[in-house]
Amino acid sequence: AKDEGKGSHRFFESAMDAEAQARRAMEIDLHDALRKGELELYFQPLFGLSQNRVTAFEALLRWNHPERGMVSPVQFIPLAEETGLIIPIGEWALHEACRIAATWADDIRIAVNISPVQFRSATLNSIVLQALARSGLAPHRLELEITESLFIDNVEATLGSLHSLRALGVRIALDDFGTGYSSLSYLRSFPFDKLKIDRSFIVDLLAHDGATAIIRAITTLADALGIETTAEGVESSEQLEILRTEGCNQIQGYFFSRPIPAGQVAALLDKLSGD
Ligand code: C2E
Ligand code: CA
Ligand code: CA
Ligand code: CA
Repeated sequence: AKDEGKGSHRFFESAMDAEAQARRAMEIDLHDALRKGELELYFQPLFGLSQNRVTAFEALLRWNHPERGMVSPVQFIPLAEETGLIIPIGEWALHEACRIAATWADDIRIAVNISPVQFRSATLNSIVLQALARSGLAPHRLELEITESLFIDNVEATLGSLHSLRALGVRIALDDFGTGYSSLSYLRSFPFDKLKIDRSFIVDLLAHDGATAIIRAITTLADALGIETTAEGVESSEQLEILRTEGCNQIQGYFFSRPIPAGQVAALLDKLSGD
């Protein structure tokens, strides 16, 4: 605080250094995380309203760091994407998700997030095939969640990759629908199996009258195109009832369950079973 002018400049520089160093340290740790078994998948249920049961789980990465504790994927996924580490991490996640899902009842699907970096890599198809083969999971039980950012550029290449993935028999969901780069034209160009309506629209449901109209527009459009809809981030019974009325197919959110470790899936299914 003394020597304001020069000091604050120096402070700024060393703060940048510290940040860069922290990033570098995290990068080194992330590099070893897989090998050290620090990564784990958690599972969050998608509850089917017409079936009145859990129809799928979404696999969500967790990093249990020995000193930092649980590191959020919001922190380490971007780093993994910048460094390319998302390729081995994503491959591991796909194998692990299929392996675990293969132990569940066969009317339960598994949804796995695919980073744009992974999606654009040439090996995704063979990695998906390998994960299915090794786990014995039926392809229709695997749903890949991709985001709209893939459509910003190179729409043709994206559509080509989507079609070859679909040819493997897996399902494709469009994640975080309605955020960012939404354009309705790609809904016409590619037959998605599912739209996941972003949590921001669900949060709005209790705050704005217009929010229900947006949900209705999305479910009406999806219905007409033969696409399922999942509402993300549902936390209350009020939200649930609006979404039921508006014809959403599945509900995902803390209202039913937070993401849980694989070992807690059976107990949760018991608790949420329709009878
Ligand atoms: P996402 O794919 O949109 O996943 C949904 C996020 O919302 C998850 O955060 C989930 O825990 C959280 N969530 C679910 N229900 C509720 C709710 O009712 N309220 C609130 N406030 N949040 C809810 P999480 O697990 O921290 O993951 C964050 C993001 O990290 C994911 O967003 C996804 O983009 C990315 N991610 C997670 N796992 C993977 C992975 O295996 N691969 C890739 N590429 N990305 C992943
Ligand atoms: Ca997702
Ligand atoms: Ca999402
Ligand atoms: Ca999101």
